[in-house]
Amino acid sequence: MPAKLLKGADVAKEIRAELKTEVENLQAQHGVVPGLVTILVGENPASQSYVRGKQKTAHELGFYSIQDNQPADLSEEKLLQLVDQYNKDPKIHGILVQLPLPKHINENRVLLAIDPSKDVDAFHPVNVGKLLIGEPDYLPCTPAGIQELLIRSGTEISGAEVVVVGRSNIVGKPIAAMLMQKAKSANATVTVCHTRTKDVKFHTTRADILIVAAGVKEYVTGDMIKPGAVVIDVGVNDVGVTADGKRILKGDVAFEAAAEIASAITPVPGGVGPMTITMLMKNTVRACKVHNNIKD
Ligand code: NAP
Repeated sequence: MPAKLLKGADVAKEIRAELKTEVENLQAQHGVVPGLVTILVGENPASQSYVRGKQKTAHELGFYSIQDNQPADLSEEKLLQLVDQYNKDPKIHGILVQLPLPKHINENRVLLAIDPSKDVDAFHPVNVGKLLIGEPDYLPCTPAGIQELLIRSGTEISGAEVVVVGRSNIVGKPIAAMLMQKAKSANATVTVCHTRTKDVKFHTTRADILIVAAGVKEYVTGDMIKPGAVVIDVGVNDVGVTADGKRILKGDVAFEAAAEIASAITPVPGGVGPMTITMLMKNTVRACKVHNNIKD
């Protein structure tokens, strides 16, 4: 396997160590502790597992953290009241509502109700708009994790041909917007592919940096990759469970074949996933500073 493995899990560990020191300093010098609430409605097993991961990391970093589990039949009105309660809670700096929400709840209404200064997922239209004009307060966690992974692996982003497969609001669109900015660690030429793209392979084989967030198991095959490209596989596809109940995951890229052609590639699991959680923690530390008028 000639490709270098971009181990997000290792990079995430490094960043978490930096954050832990920052949290200790915030407490020692300013008497404040970052506070994060994760709200989970219902019992979707994948969501439960994501939320557990976020809470575990928050505890490890010394945050004040609340896991607020609500029943699947919680009304939209009750959820909005809950969000409002945390908007007003001075000990909480970051509010995360785990998606997807049950069908009877309008996700957009709920996301709009979160105070943008506590929106550590950066899904609120105010934060999306600020990102687009190049003045973000918070970066969305998965795209921020991807960019950080590229930076820390020494990948040249400026001037690179970047191809993103997928145009969702949480991955494809924001990572495209971030990497095309006239800014440090950006300045790429970005192409975005989706289900109406006529010839996806035409684009992917031109990519110096290929970011795949399609949600289709092993969609990108070896022949779709330019030799020497850096491949970021965002996909997380459940393909079964182990005898001891652990999820078996595959990415959106056919890993073995891709690793023969790319110069660097993220594994699944252990690539983008751990970076996403870490960026959530980074945003929460930032939110704590914003709410306490503490400069970086
Ligand atoms: P999504 O909302 O389902 O969006 C998928 C996007 O991919 C859509 O824009 C879709 O195009 C495009 N697409 C699907 N099939 C395609 C195909 N055959 N050719 C070209 N484009 C195609 O997914 P998402 O929320 O962005 O997530 C994508 C994947 O990343 C999922 O596996 C998800 O679990 C994973 N994920 C991982 C993390 C992490 O932290 N590791 C975080 C978020 C998501 P259309 O717009 O035309 O439908």
